[in-house]
Amino acid sequence: MLAYTYLAKGTFALTQKPKPRLLGPRDAVVRVTLASICTSDLHIRNGAVPRAVPGIAVGHEFVGVVEEAGDAVRHVRRGDRVAVNVETYCGECFFCRNGWVNNCTHPLGGWALGCRIDGGQAEYARIPFADTNLIPIPDGVSDERALFTGDLLSTGYWAAKIAEIRKGDTLLVIGAGPAGYCAALCALLHAPARLVVCESDPFRRAFLQEHIPQAEAVSPAQALPLLSRTERGGADAVIEAAGTKESFRLAWECARPNAVVAVVAMYEEAQTLPLPDMYGKNLTFKTGGVDGCDCRKVMELIAAGALDATPLITHRVPFSEIDRAYELFEAKKDGVMKIAVQMEHM
Ligand SMILES: [Zn+2]
Ligand SMILES: [Zn+2]
Repeated sequence: MLAYTYLAKGTFALTQKPKPRLLGPRDAVVRVTLASICTSDLHIRNGAVPRAVPGIAVGHEFVGVVEEAGDAVRHVRRGDRVAVNVETYCGECFFCRNGWVNNCTHPLGGWALGCRIDGGQAEYARIPFADTNLIPIPDGVSDERALFTGDLLSTGYWAAKIAEIRKGDTLLVIGAGPAGYCAALCALLHAPARLVVCESDPFRRAFLQEHIPQAEAVSPAQALPLLSRTERGGADAVIEAAGTKESFRLAWECARPNAVVAVVAMYEEAQTLPLPDMYGKNLTFKTGGVDGCDCRKVMELIAAGALDATPLITHRVPFSEIDRAYELFEAKKDGVMKIAVQMEHM
């Protein structure tokens, strides 16, 4: 089969790999129909993910059809359309039982797909723990609508959850890239009174404003004055999804006393917490990467029409042209937000 493969630092290429097969009774093999490209894929290619294993097929956000399921798999069977969870978790260890599936202690647990084991920018993918990690796509939900279930929308849903947004709150989301966009979408499920989204790129501000008209898209220079003037002197909750030094600082500066600051961005360098400057604000910081344990809930919300991230798909590219898709995605050219890579199965 054709697979987009991490050959060495700096190089991904389309290569031929053997079609995957079941390695255990809890596995399934999925025929991939649609895959996305994520910034984490670029991090792997650029050598910024030391645990990534050269030779693996990359890609961790995709949908497809179950081709084959192991004897112990109960919840999906051959022919089912499914979305795939970015985190393959065992469902049984201490961390999984607490919902902290990102830290699943099984050797295949956490983010393994397209990083430590073959992923979904390939014609087929083997999925460990198929019962927990494959989410059936209801009839009437298209592949495109389901595409972001396992990674982006899970991240947005989780970010909104850990930010502890209460009805009537003023919420600040920093970053209107795909992750910030999905966090803003999911935040609306918690009925904030005001949703402010701060983004430095005018194109992304306009994109967000167009597709999430309930939000107020502002520039970084506007955010602090705007939020300081609110009745409580800042945002009740902040989701930082931009990942720069400036955005990290803005996140706690814009928070009101006793707010939750959910830091879900990935940074390329260490950040400083100037504790004397924030003394007395009594903030709660939460940090880290998605616990993708709410994929089923996300799929229900998609099916009910309450979550729709399809506007993020600005480009569609056939698998044979995936090199071009990566170039476009990395350069952020041509108004690109997310690219849907269409499998061809020649
Ligand atoms: Zn990702
Ligand atoms: Zn586990």
